[in-house]
Amino acid sequence: MFSEPTSPTTSQRVDADLKTPLEQAILLLFLTIPLLAVIAAVPVAWGHGLGWHDVIIGGVMYLVSGFGITVGYHRLFTHGSFKTGRPLRIALALAGSLAVEMSVTDWVAAHRRHHKYSDGDGDPHSPWRFGRDTTGVAKGFLHAHVGWLFNRERTAPERFCPDLLADRDIAAVSAAFPWCVAASVLIPPLAGGLWSMSWTGAVTALFWGSLVRIALLHHVTFSINSICHLIGERPFTTRDQSRNVRWLAVPSLGESWHNLHHADPTSARHGVLPGQLDPSAALIRGFERLGWAHDVRWPTAERIAARQARPAE
Ligand SMILES: [Zn+2]
Ligand SMILES: [Zn+2]
Repeated sequence: MFSEPTSPTTSQRVDADLKTPLEQAILLLFLTIPLLAVIAAVPVAWGHGLGWHDVIIGGVMYLVSGFGITVGYHRLFTHGSFKTGRPLRIALALAGSLAVEMSVTDWVAAHRRHHKYSDGDGDPHSPWRFGRDTTGVAKGFLHAHVGWLFNRERTAPERFCPDLLADRDIAAVSAAFPWCVAASVLIPPLAGGLWSMSWTGAVTALFWGSLVRIALLHHVTFSINSICHLIGERPFTTRDQSRNVRWLAVPSLGESWHNLHHADPTSARHGVLPGQLDPSAALIRGFERLGWAHDVRWPTAERIAARQARPAE
C-alpha cells in the first residue's frame, strides 16, 4: 500500500491530512493584512510615521523571529545541524513561532517533505510543478511562493517529525502557536507605547514592528522556496533545482545559499564558499563559543569539494 510514495493519492493518505475552512480563513488574514501594511509603508514613512523607536523594535523583532526560523526551526529542528540544551531549544522554538509562519511541528514536517521529494511529485512547494514554459514557470513561482500554503493538504507531523512530537517541550510550544502569534503582534505596540509613553508610539510600533516586519520576513522566507529554486547559481551537485542567490543572503540571514543546503542538508553553515555571508552560521558559532551548542556539523573542506559540481567540458 505504501510502495508508491509519489502518487498523489498515496501522498495524500500517508503524508498529509486536511485543513479546516476556518484555518484557511485565518491563514488568508495573516498573509494579507501584513502585506497591505507593506504596501502602505512607503507613504506612511514619507509622512514621517517612522521613528527610530520603530526601527529598533522592528529590527529586533525581525532578528529574533528570523533567527528563530533559520537557526531554530530550520537548522536545529528540521536538520539537527547542532545539539543544544533544553532552555535554548525552547527559546528557539518560541522565537521561530514569533515569525507567524507555522507551528514548529507543521513547519518542520512540510520542510522535511520538501527535502524528501525536492522538485519531484510529493514536494509541497516546487516552482517546477506546472512545467517549464513561461506560463508554467509563472504559475509555479506563485505556487512555490505562497499558493502552496492554501493547499488544503497539511503535511502530517506524525509522519515527518515524530521526534519533535515526542519532545514534550516542543509539542507544548507547537500547541501554544496561537498564543505566540498574539505575542508577536502585541509585543511591538506594548514596547513602543511604554518606550514613548504615548498611544502614537504604540500605533506606529504596531504598524512597523508587527505588520511590516511579519510581512517582510514572510516573503523573505517564501523566496527561499520560490526564487532559490528558480534563478541563481548551482555550484554544487543536487538532484533538484536548488540555487544560491547572493542578494537574498543578508535578509534571509544566510538561508539563500540554498544550493549548498540541498547538497549537504545537515551542514550548520550554508554559505560555505569564500565571501558568502551566513549570519545564522555566525550565531550558531556564537552559541558554540558560549557552550550553548555542541556537536555542530561544520562543513569540512573535503565535504565541500566532494559536492562541488564539475565545470562543463
Ligand atoms: Zn529547497
Ligand atoms: Zn532544509
